[in-house]
Amino acid sequence: MKSFISIVVPIYNEIMSLDACLMRIRHAMNELHISYEILFIDDGSTDGSTDYLLTKNQSIRQLRVIRLSRNFGKEAAITAGIDFAEGDAVIFLDADCQDPPELIPKMIEEWQQGADVILMQRISRKCESVDKRFFAFIYYRLLNYLSEIPMLVDTGDFCLVSRKGIHAIRKLPENNRYMKGLFAWIGMKTSIIRYEREPRTRGASKWSLLKLVKLAVNGITSFSVAPLRYATSLGLMAASIGAFYGFFIVMKTVLLGESIKGYSSLISIITFLGGIQLLCIGILGEYVGKTYVESKKRPNYLVMDEIRHNLDISTGELNDFSKHANTV
Ligand code: UDP
Ligand code: MG
Repeated sequence: MKSFISIVVPIYNEIMSLDACLMRIRHAMNELHISYEILFIDDGSTDGSTDYLLTKNQSIRQLRVIRLSRNFGKEAAITAGIDFAEGDAVIFLDADCQDPPELIPKMIEEWQQGADVILMQRISRKCESVDKRFFAFIYYRLLNYLSEIPMLVDTGDFCLVSRKGIHAIRKLPENNRYMKGLFAWIGMKTSIIRYEREPRTRGASKWSLLKLVKLAVNGITSFSVAPLRYATSLGLMAASIGAFYGFFIVMKTVLLGESIKGYSSLISIITFLGGIQLLCIGILGEYVGKTYVESKKRPNYLVMDEIRHNLDISTGELNDFSKHANTV
C-alpha cells in the first residue's frame, strides 16, 4: 500500500527561515519517493510569511497552507495541523530547522516498522542559552516526577505520529493543550530517536523566559494535580510547625517564667504564613482558571483560509493555488 506523509510546520513570523526550511524538507523527502504534503500553519504571522511562501513556490504542488485568524500560539497551531493533516503519518517540525529535516527518512523508517509515535529526544542543548538549558533541565524532570503518565525528558514537539495516533489525539477536546503531554498520553507503540538539536540560524526565537514559564506551568497543571496535594501538605506542615512553636513558647513562660518577646519573629512568621497561603491560593486558582477556560468550550483556533494547489486535470498544470475561504 502506498503511503502518504504530512509534514506539519507551524510558522509565526518566519519569513527568514522559510526558504531553507522548504528546501531541506523537500530534499529529505525527494530521496524517499513517497508522496507527501508540507502543511504550513500560519499562526497569525504579520510579516507576510504566507504570501511570501505562496508567491515564491507556485510550482511546489506538495505545499499547503492553513492560515489562522490570529496568533493562537504554537500548541494551537499544532492542533490545527493535527486536524487538517491528511497523511498516514504526520511529522511535526519547526520552521527554523533546529530539528533537522534530514532525520525525516529515519523517522519514516521507524514508523514503517510499526511504531505509532516516534519521539525525538535531544542529546544535548549546546545550542541554547545557559538559562534556557538550566530551566529546561529542571522543568522536564519536575514534570516527569509530578505527572501521572511518564513523559520522556528532553523532547520537544519534533515527532512523528501515525494516523491511528492522530485519530486518538483528535478525540481529546481540551483547550489547554500541552502537546508533548498529549503525545505521551495516547500511549501506543512509541519509539525514540536521539538527535543533536541545531542552533537557530535565521530569525529569532519566539519564546521569552516568561512565555516558557507559562508553558511550563500549563504543562504541569494540565497533566498533574500533584501541586494541589503539595499545597495541602505544605499547609499541614506550616500549621504543625506553628502549633509546636506555640506550645514551646507557652511552656517556656509557664515553666521558666520568661515573658514572651520577639516582635520581629512574630512579623516574620506572619509574613511566612501569609506567603504560603497566597501561594496555595495561586495554585488553586491555576486549576480553577483552567476549569473556567475549559467550560467555555471555545475552539482552539480559527482558520481564516486554507490554500492548496489547484490541480488542473486537463492540462496537468499545477500553477495556481486554490483558496478555500473561511473554514471557521
Ligand atoms: N511558533 C508558532 N506560534 C507561536 C510561536 C512559535 O507557530 O506563537 C512556531 C515558530 O514559528 C517555529 C516553532 O513554533 O516554527 C518554534 O518556535 P521557536 O523556534 O521560536 O521556539 P524555540 O525553538 O526557541 O523553542
Ligand atoms: Mg526554534
